[in-house]
Amino acid sequence: MRCHHCIEGLEHCHEVSIEHADGVTECGGDGPCALPHHLHDWCISCAELDPPCPCAEPVDAVPSFTVPERLAA
Ligand SMILES: [Zn+2]
Ligand SMILES: [Zn+2]
Ligand SMILES: [Zn+2]
Repeated sequence: MRCHHCIEGLEHCHEVSIEHADGVTECGGDGPCALPHHLHDWCISCAELDPPCPCAEPVDAVPSFTVPERLAA
């Protein structure tokens, strides 16, 4: 597969890049891929996976700093 990026010799990847909730991206291609998320042909959030990636689901154990102190009294 050759696209205009190939023809121009630009850095890019034809695989799917999955972006996780913590900002970590993962290339779906074979072997290591050091290219950033936006240089991929397909950029998806891990919440769009089927089934969704566990890290995209709401976590019940919310850090305590979200609880206002005045409600704790
Ligand atoms: Zn290409
Ligand atoms: Zn994820
Ligand atoms: Zn890649």
